[in-house]
Amino acid sequence: MHQGPDQDRPLLMIPGPVEVSPAVREAYAVPPPSHRVPELIESFGRALGMMRRVWRAGEGSQPFVLAGGGTAGMEMAALNLVAAGERAVLVETGFFSRRMAEMLRRAGAHVTVVPAAAGDAPAAGRVAEALAEARRMGPVKALFVTHVDTSTGVLIDPGPLLALAREHGALSVVDGVCSAAGEEFRTAEWGADVFLTASQKALSLPPGLALMVAGDAALAAREALPSPPPLYLDWQAWRPIMRAYEEGTPSYFSTPATNLVVALEAGLAEILADGVEARVERHRRAARALRAAWGALGLNPVPARTELIANTLSALRLPPGVDLRILLGRIKEHGVIVAAGIHPDVEGGYFRVGHMGWTVTRPELLRRTVDAVARALADCGHGPGPGPAVAALEGEPD
Ligand SMILES: *Cc1c(COP(=O)(O)O)cnc(C)c1O
Repeated sequence: MHQGPDQDRPLLMIPGPVEVSPAVREAYAVPPPSHRVPELIESFGRALGMMRRVWRAGEGSQPFVLAGGGTAGMEMAALNLVAAGERAVLVETGFFSRRMAEMLRRAGAHVTVVPAAAGDAPAAGRVAEALAEARRMGPVKALFVTHVDTSTGVLIDPGPLLALAREHGALSVVDGVCSAAGEEFRTAEWGADVFLTASQKALSLPPGLALMVAGDAALAAREALPSPPPLYLDWQAWRPIMRAYEEGTPSYFSTPATNLVVALEAGLAEILADGVEARVERHRRAARALRAAWGALGLNPVPARTELIANTLSALRLPPGVDLRILLGRIKEHGVIVAAGIHPDVEGGYFRVGHMGWTVTRPELLRRTVDAVARALADCGHGPGPGPAVAALEGEPD
């Protein structure tokens, strides 16, 4: 049986949480620091500075680090920008964009959803039409997009959509929970007003932090809101705290997840030591090799077109006659944990393999993953077994 990096547990290859590096585990495992000691404050301050670099955001932009999941980050972004009665346009690509639409509706916003079938994304032209149409009824406050939809493995090209938002006088929010540090994203250059993520995906940290960087226009929009958002999610409440950490002074609004903050600094330092571009390129290379391996196993992707396939995870259709629960159980017996699909509209069933963060720097972990999936499929009477799949992964002729 093949084992995880510790040799005593299966390898975790789901779309978050993901395996973390030894350096991150070590940083996280310290006795819980006080949020008022200089070492923690300095670590927090350095992490905030590094976020601007990983996000490729402007010097004047404001990073926020909040104890909570990606969902808390989505809600923070939405509620600091859009008030009851205001209008938002949302590009639907799956489960998480539907969640964002629900948040906006609960906040009393008028939401125009630009729909797409499961595994697909709306064309930019459709988004342009929706913005123009919504605008005829009143100003559009913000456009919401999901960079990688984790339910279907669909990757969109955010640049043109962000440009459309600007043309229509709308702010832009990008849910980069399954993409930040795994897919190319240039916050300043592409003009995203908020780019948000969570710790347990491509940043390769334990779960528990929502992270985002907001630009000037977004911060100004919060100041101009007719009524404040919920206190815990309020940028105005957190901004002085984040500033204090960067200035090296103690400050308190709500106790930060101090172990996670120490781990955040370690994880971002690793990414920056590699180089953001190099880290993204590693994800591209890993995804390309895995696509070859899945092809050798006769597995078809959920995304409707090749250019929509994400580099941070694979969503793979079940071969006919293969039972999902049995397959996932067999993959685990072969030493790797992968995830079931979660989009209700994908017919015939599918499963998901996360390949983001530290694991893409370790070819042997990708090899173990392909080996386990291939063996499990063979156990279920499908595919050629691990030999051809591992050969395809490594680019070798059969
Ligand atoms: C995982 C994920 C979320 C939700 O994050 P949680 O930490 O589970 O709350 C939101 N959006 C996307 C794109 C995700 O992949």
